[in-house]
Amino acid sequence: MRPTVIAGNWKMNKSVQESVDLIRALLAKRPSPLNPHLQLIVCPPFTSLSVAADLLRGTGIHLGAQNMSEQDDGAFTGEISWKMVKSIGCTHVILGHSERRQFFGESDALVNRKARKALATGLTPIVCVGETLDERERGVTADVVSRQMRGVLEGISASTVVQIIFAYEPIWAIGTGRNATPDQAQGVHAQIREILSVMYGKENSASVVIQYGGSVKPENAGEILAQPDVDGALVGGASLSADSFWGIVLSRKA
Ligand code: PEP
Repeated sequence: MRPTVIAGNWKMNKSVQESVDLIRALLAKRPSPLNPHLQLIVCPPFTSLSVAADLLRGTGIHLGAQNMSEQDDGAFTGEISWKMVKSIGCTHVILGHSERRQFFGESDALVNRKARKALATGLTPIVCVGETLDERERGVTADVVSRQMRGVLEGISASTVVQIIFAYEPIWAIGTGRNATPDQAQGVHAQIREILSVMYGKENSASVVIQYGGSVKPENAGEILAQPDVDGALVGGASLSADSFWGIVLSRKA
């Protein structure tokens, strides 16, 4: 049985003190008992990872980075390596978020190199794919997602692909308040699982976690998370408040 994995992507929000306040609020409002099949991850900005790691230690909530370099170390001003995020306590790293692709020119090939680095160094990559509004309206969502999947999976073996978390994030739904319908999400998730099945076999494909991301909030999460191929959510805006984050987590039907 696949776990339900809910991750909060704080993006470029929260000072160190604001991060401390949010994590304290998350911990104070944590519902108990939580479903044992749930995995929770918070991904604050790099500057808050250290304080977040201290506060989250022993809580069972995982820590993730929002990006990392494909390089190990060296003259790469402004970059953050896997060693840095791992040594601070991160277990996960978001890779290929559409904002990285759109504003920082990240290609499928670069996301692939980063994913391979994460897998080789024991970090769990959360690899994002998804189409633009124009692509959806032109009816090419399946082609776009298929191309992205094949690009980011280049050279990745069946034994390691199962360690990747995929996030289907239609770009038109990110931060817009317009989420994909449960049917739209399920359709693309099933397609992603089919691509994985063709590439790695049915059994491996069936064990891969695929999150949905794009304007998930407590009001729409229940129906989206109830879809058979939706195994969790990557949450942006609604992860910036303890009430809405827990509202999403609790909306998952047992
Ligand atoms: C995201 O940043 O990955 C995201 C899905 O954002 P939002 O939930 O705000 O749409």
